Amino acid sequence: MCPSEVKEQLSLKTKRFELYAPSKKELKKAKEELEYAVKKFKFYLGEYPPKIVTILFNNSEEMKGYDFNRFTKRKLQVLNFFIPNALRAADMEISRKIPAWKKKPDKKNRHPLSHEAGHMFLRAYCNNNFAKLSRRKQRQSRSISKLLLPAWFNEAVATLCEFPSLQKERYAVMKKYMKEIIPLRKFFTLVHPAAKIMKKKRKPKIIHSNKTSTFFVLDKAFNTLISVFYAQALTFTHFLAEKEGPKFIGKMAKEFLKGKNINEILRQAESVSSNFSKLEATWLKWLGSRLTNVE
Ligand SMILES: [Zn+2]
Repeated sequence: MCPSEVKEQLSLKTKRFELYAPSKKELKKAKEELEYAVKKFKFYLGEYPPKIVTILFNNSEEMKGYDFNRFTKRKLQVLNFFIPNALRAADMEISRKIPAWKKKPDKKNRHPLSHEAGHMFLRAYCNNNFAKLSRRKQRQSRSISKLLLPAWFNEAVATLCEFPSLQKERYAVMKKYMKEIIPLRKFFTLVHPAAKIMKKKRKPKIIHSNKTSTFFVLDKAFNTLISVFYAQALTFTHFLAEKEGPKFIGKMAKEFLKGKNINEILRQAESVSSNFSKLEATWLKWLGSRLTNVE
């Protein structure tokens, strides 16, 4: 498909985001997710996120030749999001050929728009606050949030912005993999497990790969580690927000931007211990009580 064939997108502009989508249905769905993410971001970070642009695409072909300049010129962070259920015809064909997919189709959308919007809002927030807080030169960068905020905290903010139905699944993961919980000492400094795939340190088994997509499977242990990492980010932050108040999450973000580490930040907490073992014990106790009704 050449760019000229891309249908004119529908758009919606609000104070917090600009949204572009290929259909009315997708526009409405995305609007709900973005509004939800804005609400949650404000609740935990203590302020509204800076405005971002979200563009929904059916596939990567549509993205080619897209004029992103009009947004980057305005220094707006742009979130490109592929509509998950718009599984490309070619991909459907492939998935049909794979018995495992036929038997157990992966209907779960683990990285919905609300999650990705959470990341993007945080990125914009970090860019806006960086110079002021770090007293360093202003940088408009994709990586400030990734450089100065630990991987777990990035995922914490993203998972806090998710719809409750998905968060419920993350609690179910915690219950199922209670024995696989990553000790906080390790968790706080862990490089994002998914980064290992990007850096090819952990080779996935490729089932099929073409121009638009790659299907791969990871070994079970690694899959579990990734699921636990996300679930832990969410549940630990829920715990902190309950004990210290939701605004503590915003305080953490600002302290990370100032260059403080987790030890220094936890020492500013009023209710929880800054001793990792004690903190872990309290969190696990709290988690246990939350998991009794989780299926
Ligand atoms: Zn994420």
